[in-house]
Amino acid sequence: STKFVIEGLKAQIEGKEILKGINLEMKGGEVHAIMGPNGTGKSTLASALMGHPKYEVTEGTVLLNDEDLLEMEVDERARAGLFLAMQYPSEIAGVTNSDFLRSSINARRGEGNEISLIKFIRQMEGKMKELEMNPEFAHRYLNEGFSGGEKKRNEILQMMMLEPKIVVLDEIDSGLDIDALRIVANGVNAMKSEERGFLIITHYQRLLNYITPDYVHVMMQGRIVKSGGPELAEKLEAEGYDWIKEELGITD
Ligand code: ADP
Ligand code: MG
Ligand code: MG
Repeated sequence: STKFVIEGLKAQIEGKEILKGINLEMKGGEVHAIMGPNGTGKSTLASALMGHPKYEVTEGTVLLNDEDLLEMEVDERARAGLFLAMQYPSEIAGVTNSDFLRSSINARRGEGNEISLIKFIRQMEGKMKELEMNPEFAHRYLNEGFSGGEKKRNEILQMMMLEPKIVVLDEIDSGLDIDALRIVANGVNAMKSEERGFLIITHYQRLLNYITPDYVHVMMQGRIVKSGGPELAEKLEAEGYDWIKEELGITD
């Protein structure tokens, strides 16, 4: 079964240390949520895992089924089964959504094992229907002119098509109205499996009403400072983060 281990991960941006030693262990079938105040390093964690060039990892290891992700290029990490839905998905002019998806899938499957066009189209159409996406989005340029909610649904479409082992969703709930939130959450829940782990980064508890986490971690100032079950998310929603700061003697 899938195993994902982050150990002592430190990362910096332009010489400033943002991640100060992250430890986290996930198994297939588990949903972990990371919550925390703004500016605390949640997106930095997601980007560092994915290998974004702006984020320099200075210490630590990240293992996916005993393979060292930090030694891999971005495309190799995707091939190994890591998927990241970004907080701010990029637009790519001149590349249609469907072309992008098909080349991502084929990159993941590897040479000689490409998906047939017919099968790809059938799958894509089915998933788009599940996500209540307008079929014309297949032929639009990637994310160009998509609304916030359409971009987020499109990220989930990519996730569904790529069938990754570890899914990192960075604020997939931001900018979604309640109907879109439900659709996105259903998409995630439909992808739950014993072979797949989810790391859900969110500022708000709301999403976790639809996707029940097994573990909730609180991140502050570049560290995971507290872990618990779903009840921790509810307490944060009701009481904010100040009580944790007091408990830990954090001042800022
Ligand atoms: P969160 O996702 O928890 O809101 P981020 O990871 O986006 O936090 O940001 C953590 C810290 O790193 C913040 O102080 C932010 O200003 C800084 N930071 C993030 N990305 C960049 C960047 N590309 N360049 C410079 N500073 C950055
Ligand atoms: Mg933020
Ligand atoms: Mg963020």
